Amino acid sequence: MKKKIVIVGAGPAGLFSAYKLSENNNFDITLLDRGRDVDSRKCPLERTGVCDNCNPCNVLYGTGGSGCLSDGILNLRPDIGGDLEELTGKADKAIKLVSVVDSIFLDHGAPEKLFIGETEMIEDLQRKAEASGIKFIQIPQRHIGSDYTPVVINSMKKYLEKKRVKFVLLADVNKIEKQKQGFTTNYTQKNTLHKIDSDYVILAPGRAGSSFLMSQIKELGIKTQNQPIDIGVRVEVSKVVMKPVIEVNRDPKFHIYSKTYDDFVRTFCTNHEGYVMKEQYDGYVGVNGHSMRDIKSHNSNFAFLSRVTLTSPVEDTTSYGISIAKIATVLGGGKPIIQRFGDLRRGRRSTTERISRSNIKPTLLSATPGDIAMALPYRIVTNLIESLERLDNVIPGVGSDSTLLYAPEIKFYGIKVKVDSSMETNLSNLFVAGDGVGLSRDIVNSAATGILAAEGIINKEIKS
Ligand SMILES: Cc1cc2nc3c(=O)[nH]c(=O)nc-3n(C[C@H](O)[C@H](O)[C@H](O)COP(=O)(O)OP(=O)(O)OC[C@H]3O[C@@H](n4cnc5c(N)ncnc54)[C@H](O)[C@@H]3O)c2cc1C
Repeated sequence: MKKKIVIVGAGPAGLFSAYKLSENNNFDITLLDRGRDVDSRKCPLERTGVCDNCNPCNVLYGTGGSGCLSDGILNLRPDIGGDLEELTGKADKAIKLVSVVDSIFLDHGAPEKLFIGETEMIEDLQRKAEASGIKFIQIPQRHIGSDYTPVVINSMKKYLEKKRVKFVLLADVNKIEKQKQGFTTNYTQKNTLHKIDSDYVILAPGRAGSSFLMSQIKELGIKTQNQPIDIGVRVEVSKVVMKPVIEVNRDPKFHIYSKTYDDFVRTFCTNHEGYVMKEQYDGYVGVNGHSMRDIKSHNSNFAFLSRVTLTSPVEDTTSYGISIAKIATVLGGGKPIIQRFGDLRRGRRSTTERISRSNIKPTLLSATPGDIAMALPYRIVTNLIESLERLDNVIPGVGSDSTLLYAPEIKFYGIKVKVDSSMETNLSNLFVAGDGVGLSRDIVNSAATGILAAEGIINKEIKS
């Protein structure tokens, strides 16, 4: 009898779990995702965020998850986008996992080109950064491009289907029930309730599945711990401003400690010649960014985020982040807020007229000119202003008056599910992987945790 495994979520974490498990013929693997298949996303503008008519497809992800809609930058380091060494307890294992994930992406069409930068240029940037009290983190990167990520994901899906992995799409999982032996997964598809029994479950619902995950954590008694969140803005500048840094690193990461509060501020997810996009969540909006290999803008954007940790007696960072996002959504009339950095610095709102006078033409048209200082807490705004001014010493131009800021950009890692080194929870045979359960923050790390969960199941089966 084959052991039955249900995987919830077909993002990188779920896909790579299936990938690893499919090497073993003794498993019957079903991947459930509430989104659509990548083939059905006909309109490329849906992914650029420049088309207001479409229902933004990132409300429902589908095969490939949010990773499939993303810029597809593969950060090839085990300590960026997560901490694989901490999870596995082994440095060499962490490095190996990154190379396994990379080679699978390469097998399915990720470009050979690796951005590693010239040593001299790296040192020059490090020197400039250190002179301003900023840490520059060098990362080898591969760039798939949001126009090619669906192609790579489709190739993986076809491969997995050949290996008899069953994909069930538009399947909204509402409940996991613990049985004497294994689990029953309940999902709704086309208004019909389905139930599927399995020996193992891997939960990999990404951040979009947070409300589903929270309900299951409560009902099943899954143990968790709180985590910090990152709150801030998406910064958009002319592409020439970012060009010298992009030549060193495709997605340059700078770590800064703010002057007034000594809070951690970082750059994240740089999209050179890319687009800012709106994200629609349940009850609020957010911003993000992406870039394509073939369609390019005149701008570059990156996330600029300030870390928030809450300590006893109130530690619920997720609720805090959602409250802020909701205030920003009210202030933006249901759209993200856009403001020139000069206006924020001077304590005045941006208007349509002021934005139109800016040297930079916004790539996200569906944003409301306003005052970010009225949406984000004072401490965060102070951290962002101070740190962007400091970053201007390393990347001249990012702190200019005409730099555009979009809010809110919030990265939730609020809840982290407690796991052992094989990603098994306190519930026997219930494994977790990816961003939604707080184990990762990028494609490579989420995929790696998926592999770890799969290996956990394989090892359990070997022992039994
Ligand atoms: C716009 C954007 C750009 C990004 N750019 C990059 C980048 O360039 N490089 C990088 O490394 N990372 C990037 N990221 C982050 C990256 O996409 C994520 O870290 C990664 O996709 C996380 O993988 P995951 O499998 O954990 O979750 P996800 O990719 O979010 O997948 C989770 C899946 O679970 C499904 N799901 C959720 N709940 C349910 C449910 N109840 N029932 C059924 N299915 C469910 C969802 O539909 C989704 O398909 C970006 C993210 C976004 C949004």
